This record gives sequence, structure tokens and C-alpha cells, in this order.
Amino acid sequence: MLAATAWIAYSPAMPHDAAPCSRDVATQLNAAEAACTQNGAQLTALRRDVLALILSAQTPVTAYQLLDQLKLIRKSAVPPTIYRTLDFLLENKLIHKIEQLNAFIPCAEADHGHADAQFLICKGCGSVTEIEDRAVSDALAQAATKHGFTPTRAVVEVDGLCAACAAKPASAGPTDRSTPHPHR
Ligand SMILES: [Zn+2]
Ligand SMILES: [Zn+2]
Repeated sequence: MLAATAWIAYSPAMPHDAAPCSRDVATQLNAAEAACTQNGAQLTALRRDVLALILSAQTPVTAYQLLDQLKLIRKSAVPPTIYRTLDFLLENKLIHKIEQLNAFIPCAEADHGHADAQFLICKGCGSVTEIEDRAVSDALAQAATKHGFTPTRAVVEVDGLCAACAAKPASAGPTDRSTPHPHR
């Protein structure tokens, strides 16, 4: 389980410049809204709230963690509320699902093909970094072609330690989650 301390409190009821990191989150929310409009979709208040929670988290968040957070501001929220909203955010390429964690992170790159993506998953602090490297995608596509295989999805999840965790003394250990850091 991810430590509750990994969360930065976000309250959509607050003025945007009152919460920590909120200016950055507000900017990303506005960009997301513009992207949705371009897709002919609408970033409703609910979708905006859920995306804000994902943007504010320091590590990937599960649907149930999101539901617990959302219930604080929307008492009527139930699991289908979250699942429908996550589907929308995935369809509009605003977030990624990290399959091995069954959790979600914001997309680091505007509007790239989500069938191709690479993630570095730190087993120390739980951070996930999206690297979206064309060279990796191309190499995978070429390797598949050699086998006469047509890939429809090539998402790579790499486990290991981030630079900060790798630099820690072994005694502090990769299980020390007291100092989570942003995944990008
Ligand atoms: Zn992405
Ligand atoms: Zn780490």
C-alpha cells in the first residue's frame, strides 16, 4: 500500500493559489481542459476534480484511493463514478494506468500515442517516471516485425530504483518511503 503521507492535500473548494503545488496543478488542469475541448469532449467538474487528485499525488493512485479522496469533497461518489471518470481520462490521454500497480499517473507528455509508453517504477519510494522514448518504441516495433508480429500495444514497465533511492545508504533501504518525491 502507498503511504497516506504521499498525498498532498488538494481541495477544489480552495482558491487555486491557496494549496501547495496548486499553481502547477491549475496550469495542467487548464491544459487538460483545452485538450478535451479539442477532442470534442468536456472536462466536467467531476472529471476535473479526479484529474486534480491524480496530478496532486506524488505516486500512482488506485481507484479506491481516489474514491476515498473524492468522497471528502463529493459525498455521493461511488465506485462507478470513479471508474467512468478514469475511463474518460484514459480515453482522452490525460492519464496512464500502471498495470502492475493497478494505479494511475498523469501523462507527462501532451497527446502522444498511449499504446506506446515506457515507465520507470521505483520500488523504493513508489515514484513512476514516464520516459516516452521513440527509440525504445521503434526497437520494439522492429523486433516484433522480425517475428511477423503486429503489435497493437507496447507498454513497458521497468522496475528498479530511482536516482534518489539508489543514492541512499543501504541501511536506509529501498523500503524507506518517508520522503516521496514527484514522479517527474
Ligand atoms: Zn504519457
Ligand atoms: Zn525512488
